[in-house]
Amino acid sequence: MRRPGRWPLAAQLAVAFALVTVLALGGSGTLLLYQSSARLLAERSESVLAWGQAAAGLAAEYWSDPGESLTLALYRFHQQSGIRPVVVDREGRVLADITTATPLLGEQLTHPEVRAALAGRATTGTRRLPTGEWVMYGGVPVTLDGEQVGAVLVAADMGAVRDARRDLLRQLVWVAGGMAAVAVLLGVLLARYLARPLVRLRAAVTQLARGRLDARVVPGGSSELWDLGLGFNRMAEELGRLDQQRRAFVADASHELRTPVAAIRALAEPLLTDRPLDVAIYKEHLHDIVQECDRAGRLVDSLLELARLDMRAEARRQAGEDAEPVDLRVVVAEVVHALEPLAAERGVRLELLPGEPVTVRADAHLVQTVVGNLVENGVKYTPSGGLVQVAVGTGGTGLAWIRVKDTGIGIPPEHLPHIFERFYRVDKARSRATGGAGLGLAIAAEAAARLGGRVEVESEVGKGSAFTFTLPV
Ligand code: ADP
Repeated sequence: MRRPGRWPLAAQLAVAFALVTVLALGGSGTLLLYQSSARLLAERSESVLAWGQAAAGLAAEYWSDPGESLTLALYRFHQQSGIRPVVVDREGRVLADITTATPLLGEQLTHPEVRAALAGRATTGTRRLPTGEWVMYGGVPVTLDGEQVGAVLVAADMGAVRDARRDLLRQLVWVAGGMAAVAVLLGVLLARYLARPLVRLRAAVTQLARGRLDARVVPGGSSELWDLGLGFNRMAEELGRLDQQRRAFVADASHELRTPVAAIRALAEPLLTDRPLDVAIYKEHLHDIVQECDRAGRLVDSLLELARLDMRAEARRQAGEDAEPVDLRVVVAEVVHALEPLAAERGVRLELLPGEPVTVRADAHLVQTVVGNLVENGVKYTPSGGLVQVAVGTGGTGLAWIRVKDTGIGIPPEHLPHIFERFYRVDKARSRATGGAGLGLAIAAEAAARLGGRVEVESEVGKGSAFTFTLPV
């Protein structure tokens, strides 16, 4: 399947870092700008109102002579403060104004600040004039002997506030821009560092997919990536082991099959001579050829049995078949019955010890496979006159067991760890004579494992062996 065009993880992480940084810087910068502007405005408003109060004081002082004295006093005030005061009467008409260019004298002022001041409240308000100037107006009531007689309107230029705000914005943009650039750079480096273990893992997976089973990664990065790396190594190791096992199996199986084929050829070839041969020789060779055929047949049967174990488990799993309850005693009795002729042929006594029924949920065919191989071995490796006993029972902890005990040749301790391996035979010559290829116990162990159980062995050379198959009830 082709992958749609995607960004590498490092790029995605870097973009995420950059986005977060820019958002955080932008947000905090905007907040800072907003708060600073509000503080500047509040300060300006306070000072405008203070100047307004001063002008109102002057107006009250010279109220009796709004023409000459008041205008003069206001003019001095303007020179001191740089603020233009206009005094209005109770109706809002201009009583005194210091401007000579566009004097407002006698005009009715309708500024909201004037109206508020006439209603007794001192307020400020900012406005942009048609000339483009930004001004703050302040309206303050004028009281004389406790009675309101008019109001003062003062106007202050806001250019300084605007400049301060602009400066702040410029500084913020520079600082935030610089920090964002550094953050993006760091983000890219960090993202590459974080993504490196994944990149390595991907390279290893690609190698493995191409059949390089020795591909491994050096685990690194976060805890999840460490686990992933370790998991990958374990998986690759297991794959390597299975592959090795498969190769060995194929080689062993071919070798084992080659032996009877070679024997058959060696037996058949002398019969193809032109010289007249005795019928007895023909018979003898043909008899041996039949035996070799049987041996090859048994080997193929065992190989098929191994393959079927896998297929059977898979088929049952796919069919969702549940294990049915089976009585182990009945299954074992059938196996013993089937092997009685072999035991009789070899002069071995084969008996099933009496006991209670033992019911387990299991695949009866697998149980038969395990027990069949164990009992057959018991009979095969016990000399004539010996005894093979089979017993069935339950353990205390939800386990059932089947024990096959013989009085046969026994197994030397150094071989015990290997007898469950495929094609392993303690005594090749003897095993060959009995027709074994070293697969019986391997099949038994695998079938037992599929049942959730296992096979254990105790043995003493010359005295006999006891194989115990335990499985969960
Ligand atoms: P085989 O087909 O050769 O019997 P198995 O896998 O069944 O192969 O057994 C492996 C080897 O373990 C045998 O070759 C034999 O040497 C030894 N073995 C198995 N069962 C017994 C037993 N009951 N007594 C003595 N040796 C045994």
